[in-house]
Amino acid sequence: MKYFYKNLSIWLIIALIAFLAFSLLKGPAKVYHTIAYNDFLDKVDNGILSAVTIKENTISWSTADNTSYQTIIPKESTALDHLLKKGIRIQVKEEMKPHWFLKTFLSWIPILLLILVWFFFMRGSGQAGGGGKAMAFGKSRAHLVDPEQSKVRLADVAGVDEAKEEIAEIVDFLKQPDKFTDAGARIPTGVLLYGEPGTGKTLLAKAIAGEAGVPFYSISGSNFVEMYVGIGASRVRDLFKEGKQNAPCIIFIDEIDAVGRHRSSGGVGGNDEREQTLNQLLVEMDGFEANDHVIIVAATNRQDILDPALLRPGRFDRQVMVPLPDVGGREKILKVHARNIKIADDVDWTITAKGTPGFSGAQLANMVNEAALLMTRAGKDSVTMEILEEAKDKVMMGAERKSMIITEHEKKITAYHETGHALVAWMLPGSDPVHKVTIIPRGRALGMTMQLPQEERNSHDRTYLFNNLCTLLGGRIAEEIVFNEMTTGAGNDIARVSDIARKMVCEWGMSDAVGPMTFKPSDPLNGVPGQIMSEKTALLIDHEVKQLVQRAYDTAKDILTTHRDIMEDISQTLLEKETINHDEIKQIVQQHQG
Ligand code: ADP
Ligand code: ZN
Repeated sequence: MKYFYKNLSIWLIIALIAFLAFSLLKGPAKVYHTIAYNDFLDKVDNGILSAVTIKENTISWSTADNTSYQTIIPKESTALDHLLKKGIRIQVKEEMKPHWFLKTFLSWIPILLLILVWFFFMRGSGQAGGGGKAMAFGKSRAHLVDPEQSKVRLADVAGVDEAKEEIAEIVDFLKQPDKFTDAGARIPTGVLLYGEPGTGKTLLAKAIAGEAGVPFYSISGSNFVEMYVGIGASRVRDLFKEGKQNAPCIIFIDEIDAVGRHRSSGGVGGNDEREQTLNQLLVEMDGFEANDHVIIVAATNRQDILDPALLRPGRFDRQVMVPLPDVGGREKILKVHARNIKIADDVDWTITAKGTPGFSGAQLANMVNEAALLMTRAGKDSVTMEILEEAKDKVMMGAERKSMIITEHEKKITAYHETGHALVAWMLPGSDPVHKVTIIPRGRALGMTMQLPQEERNSHDRTYLFNNLCTLLGGRIAEEIVFNEMTTGAGNDIARVSDIARKMVCEWGMSDAVGPMTFKPSDPLNGVPGQIMSEKTALLIDHEVKQLVQRAYDTAKDILTTHRDIMEDISQTLLEKETINHDEIKQIVQQHQG
């Protein structure tokens, strides 16, 4: 419906503009050559003219070849008598006067247009997050979930036990507020959930409301920041008013960094509006009384850029980290989402959890859902390990693109490229084991080498990172060795190499020459300034980064030239089978090394 109105308004505007343009153009359609009054009189005297038209103070006529002339009659002239005497036919025209109504209407058109544009803009904007209640402009636009409707419970959130414990306390408070206030405990007004996207922050907030049986208002921070100054602030005011009226309740503000970014941090446009909104938010939070029984839960994945004022006591003074799940957590999340799906006996969730390092809860949920879809499509009646593996690849790298047209030559290059990655990783002790290599295109990648860590890693040592650099470069180097040519296919690898190498030198203090100091680059978009360094240091850093990459390059090249025969074998197998796994690579390597 919204789009219908938007389209309608656009067509109306186009029609009006066309109408205006048309009426303007219609006027001077006929071109008159203006001549001097004397010349006109000459023509009259010489009998060249036979008929003229008089309109106001101009006389016009046309000649035989259809050219139109006109002349202006001086005031107090006796032109009329003169013309009559000469026997010229005179036609008098009255000036066309538009009806007064039309005239007023025309003069109002620009203003009407403006009002119309404004009106439809207002209708169209800011609706994104809601969808629930239709609300007037300037209202909070929060989306309300009734306590009866909210079915999310803490049991639905898995693998984030610490966060759940903190949350459980808030649920207790909402259920029995008196118990807390009688004991003189200070109740948190704001809880900030921070962590990577898809780790279950929204889910946790919903679970609080669901467990406590209170209404849940949700709004996204980006909904506050509109292009019109003052609207964000009024929306905040409205939201809190609504919250207080419906207390006890949860107000959930997603993406709080959209409003709560460090003030005066530069940023791009709309700063006044954002600051006003943020100030209003702070004012409202300060105005909370303990017995308001409204708890604000906010979520962000950029807690580092939030304005410190937001985190002060009485505001979001409780901060709960919602981390990416570890192996155990992933297993629990997988099980939660597989509750209503038929699972085959061969499925071992522990193995699947091990094979999905770095996956967020949302990705795991997505994977289980994908598996159920694949199962249905394949006409099977339960999800097997094989289906899960397929679903994992899909979530990780996008759908297979079997229909993508790839030339034989491209395929060959890809096979060697991926073999390059795999073989370097294989030969370097301390790298993650190679799990699978494929040359079936997925998403934007032509091929893929997948490594799986044996155990969960929370930090990486220098050797591991260096091995990563070597492995990443292996693809490009294999192309160079075999085809003596470079392709764009390695672009992504190279970008990652640069990124890791620079971080090793500038952030993790892993270069001996630079030493254990950080030199973070600036982040102008979020108002984080870069660290100040001398020109000499900058040069040193560049030199160190380059050195590091060069050493990785040499190491990888050495491996691939030494084991050229193994590289050929793996590439050939890959071209035949398109996908090979750990055991198959192991077999090939063992054949060569006896
Ligand atoms: P965030 O708000 O942190 O970006 P969401 O809460 O929106 O993440 O997560 C999206 C979906 O992913 C959830 O609706 C849920 O299905 C799934 N999910 C994410 N984290 C978890 C978790 N810890 N336990 C169970 N499901 C999860
Ligand atoms: Zn590559």
